[in-house]
Amino acid sequence: MVTFLEMSGISKRFGGVHALRDVDLTLEVGEVHCLVGENGSGKSTLIKIISGVEAPEPGGRIAISGKEYPKLNPVYSTHCGIQVIYQDLSLFPNLTVAENIAMAHHLGGLHSVNWASMRAAAKATMAKIGVAFDPDAKVSELSIAGRQLVAICRALAADAKLLIMDEPTASLTRHEVNALIALVSELKRAGICVVFVSHRLDEVLEIAQRVTVLRDGAKVGTFAADTIDGRKLSQLMTGKSFEYQ
Ligand code: ADP
Ligand code: MG
Repeated sequence: MVTFLEMSGISKRFGGVHALRDVDLTLEVGEVHCLVGENGSGKSTLIKIISGVEAPEPGGRIAISGKEYPKLNPVYSTHCGIQVIYQDLSLFPNLTVAENIAMAHHLGGLHSVNWASMRAAAKATMAKIGVAFDPDAKVSELSIAGRQLVAICRALAADAKLLIMDEPTASLTRHEVNALIALVSELKRAGICVVFVSHRLDEVLEIAQRVTVLRDGAKVGTFAADTIDGRKLSQLMTGKSFEYQ
């Protein structure tokens, strides 16, 4: 096991709200790590700290590929290969598939691109995950699942080593969820670490090697997926049981 990311003592307050309290987390290269917890338990805040969008309270520690980052920010995080796919996917609906994927390299704009090579690169990235959208199609013409695949392609084009997906299955059909689960297994085989946030415990147990449970901003624990079931997980998430420790 090679550790990609290691964090400890991570706390975050928003005014009077303690969104995270003294959380630690390790992510291994090539693992699928699910993050579960009820609404408001701190999952998105933890992701934002990993991506450098939010700064934790002083005293926490974050190391990526063995290097300490006392002040992580989105530029360092991206440079380390961390890519986040938020629920809104952050795509440009009026741009084409190829243009959106090319945004991995042209965050400042598309003024100086070679259109033919951009299309070819987009096709090559899509082919890696078995997708063949028309590179000239507008993203607004695609389904939610299709847009999500474009967002994954953009992350891969940015050389993702850690791909974080926040509630990626929330608006997918069961069939689309199955396709995404298959794709995540392929990413894992390619050595990419995937953090998958979900509250659907059946799919979590299907996809994860390890599951971290958050409750009220605190970490309940990290569990090997094959040592736990949905009932225990939901007990850990809600804290509504005395029979499990
Ligand atoms: P989850 O993703 O698990 O639903 P969040 O990380 O979004 O949880 O939120 C954790 C807690 O922090 C919640 O109580 C939420 O209301 C609060 N919170 C999150 N972001 C902010 C913010 N920017 N300002 C104020 N409170 C926030
Ligand atoms: Mg959230």
